[in-house]
Amino acid sequence: MSVDVECVVIGAGVLGLAVARALAQRGREVVLAEAESAIGTGASSRNSEVIHAGLYYPPGSLKARLCVEGRAKLYAFCADHGVPTKRTGKLIVATRETQIPELMRIAETARRNGVADLVMLDRQTARSVEPALTCCAALLSPSTGILDSHAYLLALRGEAESHGANVALATPFGSGAVRPGGFHLLFADAAQTALTCRILINAAGLNAPAAARTLAGLPGGTIPQAHFCKGSYFALQGRAPFSRLIYLLPEAAGLGIHLTLDLGGGAKFGPDVEWIERLDFSMDAAKGEKFAAAIRAFWADLPDGALHPAFCGIRPKISGPGEPARDFAILGPADHGIVGLVNLFGIESPGLTASLAIADYVAEMISH
Ligand SMILES: Cc1cc2nc3c(=O)[nH]c(=O)nc-3n(C[C@H](O)[C@H](O)[C@H](O)COP(=O)(O)OP(=O)(O)OC[C@H]3O[C@@H](n4cnc5c(N)ncnc54)[C@H](O)[C@@H]3O)c2cc1C
Repeated sequence: MSVDVECVVIGAGVLGLAVARALAQRGREVVLAEAESAIGTGASSRNSEVIHAGLYYPPGSLKARLCVEGRAKLYAFCADHGVPTKRTGKLIVATRETQIPELMRIAETARRNGVADLVMLDRQTARSVEPALTCCAALLSPSTGILDSHAYLLALRGEAESHGANVALATPFGSGAVRPGGFHLLFADAAQTALTCRILINAAGLNAPAAARTLAGLPGGTIPQAHFCKGSYFALQGRAPFSRLIYLLPEAAGLGIHLTLDLGGGAKFGPDVEWIERLDFSMDAAKGEKFAAAIRAFWADLPDGALHPAFCGIRPKISGPGEPARDFAILGPADHGIVGLVNLFGIESPGLTASLAIADYVAEMISH
């Protein structure tokens, strides 16, 4: 016999938690099913913890819109809930004169995305604000910042639960079927739980395409191919002589190895780009030399032996190596024809920044 609930959200990463909170706040009955025995063990705890301003994404894209909207919501939420943040600001640096036009292109894209506070700094001015920096010019983004993502995850869970959401840990979604007026779902937990629901949100991160494929009745053509793109981080021993985040120009599949500060005063560099076939969170210490070379492009005095392997994250890509980057794919009834179903595919960076805006967007999609 299956239990009937109004909404089921699959995956308790930042997206699943934010969506569960948004739906519970709107008075809906919510079960949030997480495969692991803790929340936020996926990409949500393996990232740069940067609150992005919304600089790079194509104007009009969901990434641009939801990042800019999400950033404002995130700073406000964190202030209201005691989640530590810091508006460090960020510098994107041109390390060669030939890169300066690219900085200008980023500034123009940002302006079209509604980010109007960027400042172009010449070499001397950049050096006056960050004396350890090596560059020809830099673009300053004052509204970029950092947050304590673990505190954020806990605050989202707390607020979802205080509005009645039920977080079921160690409850992996196994398979399901579209039924008239809803869904029938089977879970691979100890009790082999079966549920029926009217609204189903698939926020399973790296597993979202695989989870969607097990849902009988969902047209296969609406499920993208998953691609995994690993990004490793190296931590700096000691303090970094920078007070802002430092980024090189973006690469094809990521934002390039950058310096991120954390709220405890530590510094890390990453993530690089490594396409992988299977989920693998191991670290390759031998990459340290490649990292040191990339970092010395903007910090010539990086001491030898100062980098230590830290951790890696895996980007849930829906475009493969060499293909153009894709927008967030938040696919609802208008896309696949199934009332009450939203699949969240390809929610890579800036998904953490955009999480509250994505949650409102999802809640709106299924409000009719
Ligand atoms: C290297 C890296 C750096 C990043 N840096 C930033 C940044 O600085 N700023 C920013 O804004 N964004 C950043 N991002 C993006 C951000 O981390 C993600 O967009 C966000 O964490 C995605 O959250 P999620 O909830 O979709 O996925 P996840 O956090 O991966 O959550 C998915 C959850 O689903 C669960 N799950 C999977 N399968 C099942 C199943 N069958 N049943 C039940 N549960 C299941 C998983 O266990 C997991 O808990 C970065 C991402 C990466 C990889």
